[in-house]
Amino acid sequence: MSKKIVVIGSGFAGSTAAAMLQKNQCEVTLLEAAAEWGGCSGKFQRGKFLFPVGATLAMGFAEQGIHGRINNYLNINVKSKRLDKVMDVTIEHESLPYYSDRETFINMWYEKVPDEASRIEAFFREVWKTAEPLKKHMVHFPVVPPGTFRETGSVLKGFTLSSLKLLPLLPFTLDYFVKKHDLTEHQLFVQFINGVLMDSMQTTYQNCTLLMGCMALDIYHDGVWYVEGGLYKLIESLIENFKFNGGNALKPRRATYIRKSSTNDYQWEVEDHRGNVYQADDVVINTPPANMKKLLSEPLYSQLNKKLKKRATLDVEWGTYTLYLAVKDIFPADAPLFEQIMLSNKSSSFDEDHFFVSLSSSTDRNRAPEGCRTITISTHINTKNWNYKEIYDQKAADIERAVINALEKKYPGFENALIHFLSGGPRAWERFTNRSGGKVGGFPQTNDFSLWRALQHRTGIKGLWVCGDNIFPGAGSVGASSSGVHAARSILNKRIF
Ligand SMILES: Cc1cc2nc3c(=O)[nH]c(=O)nc-3n(C[C@H](O)[C@H](O)[C@H](O)COP(=O)(O)OP(=O)(O)OC[C@H]3O[C@@H](n4cnc5c(N)ncnc54)[C@H](O)[C@@H]3O)c2cc1C
Repeated sequence: MSKKIVVIGSGFAGSTAAAMLQKNQCEVTLLEAAAEWGGCSGKFQRGKFLFPVGATLAMGFAEQGIHGRINNYLNINVKSKRLDKVMDVTIEHESLPYYSDRETFINMWYEKVPDEASRIEAFFREVWKTAEPLKKHMVHFPVVPPGTFRETGSVLKGFTLSSLKLLPLLPFTLDYFVKKHDLTEHQLFVQFINGVLMDSMQTTYQNCTLLMGCMALDIYHDGVWYVEGGLYKLIESLIENFKFNGGNALKPRRATYIRKSSTNDYQWEVEDHRGNVYQADDVVINTPPANMKKLLSEPLYSQLNKKLKKRATLDVEWGTYTLYLAVKDIFPADAPLFEQIMLSNKSSSFDEDHFFVSLSSSTDRNRAPEGCRTITISTHINTKNWNYKEIYDQKAADIERAVINALEKKYPGFENALIHFLSGGPRAWERFTNRSGGKVGGFPQTNDFSLWRALQHRTGIKGLWVCGDNIFPGAGSVGASSSGVHAARSILNKRIF
């Protein structure tokens, strides 16, 4: 008999898990609380314009990449274009193009800072060399820390002599390599890598686990893609694939309650906000740990493993303030589709001072009509500082003015070309994605939260699983989807890949 599964949440992790399980003859119901699929990688429409809410930059689409392998397995194809230039990183007045090709990227440093470039080159070459054996592991979707014999096998698969050499590096942060190459005082370089790490690892080099940091600084060189319409197109394809295989996808349906089943046929009952009850053998929860208390009654909540319960009480994740702009197409042909803008060259916290700007391509008719473009802009914020209305309003106004000024300077006439100017603070994020306090991006990949200290997809309760960017390997659509694969693989009790 096929297993009955309920997946709660259609973020990258939940959609991936649902599609994988349905393809493998499970009978899956996917419940999404919002009116749109995709959570942080979803979209919304305003008039003729369409805005990705959060995620825009696609990685892992290469054949051996995480999305590449999942898409191949599910026979999914989204229209996307590989970019030679990942993004521009603009730090105060200096703009550094981040090229995907490794040699072009190194040459860029020789052009910009000839005196220090050899040390920067040595740093990146060591980072890439360190990432190489790790990538061989990632192909097997390893779970760290492994919980079963099979998962230990996945970790050991891809193990080479070079992996052994990485073991002594496990306790270090990226600070070790930065110091080793005498780059701590190089403000431009430090701002550059910190900007990149903040977006992918949610922390700066000083605290970022060395091995995860190396992966983050390497992945752009394995390719970056612009997805026509936005990354949500991949979510939609996962949902279409899920439905095509007979999956039951429901929205808006907020799961309100998970309890042990009152019948003997199934282990679980999930209730939604309309009072519908879904029976299941297994339940996959695609929400951050902080949300678990709302979903599980006592004594179930107490039975969760200690680590998960502890993480549910921590307040270490970032919030975001996002802007959504529709603009007449005043942009030069070579305007970067992705850009990081840092307003100061001295920031160490990146709080409200660092913007990730995603511009729709001039030919992307999904996002804007002819002659127009849309822009999604996000910045990290510490939500603790946004608790009072006056402060909230002031901070929002400051960010909005700073962004307009920066873009006006770069693209004269920008302010007059604006058609829509919308924003989303932590409260909107909480409403739209159901993430407690509007906290996004997952736990910072510091030594306290990553690799062996990461949360697993197991909860400590049989038949109850978690996935998402708070769960190993964390971070972005690639990490979230991997955790969805882990949950599906454990439920099916087979390797899948
Ligand atoms: C501003 C911003 C920019 C980003 N940019 C990028 C980028 O360019 N590239 C990249 O790869 N990543 C990016 N990320 C990260 C990426 O978007 C996320 O890591 C990823 O989408 C998280 O997926 P997830 O599976 O954890 O689920 P989430 O996105 O958190 O989705 C969970 C879903 O579950 C639903 N849900 C929650 N509770 C319930 C319930 N009780 N019942 C039913 N449904 C429920 C929610 O409504 C939501 O749709 C960005 C994130 C943000 C915030």
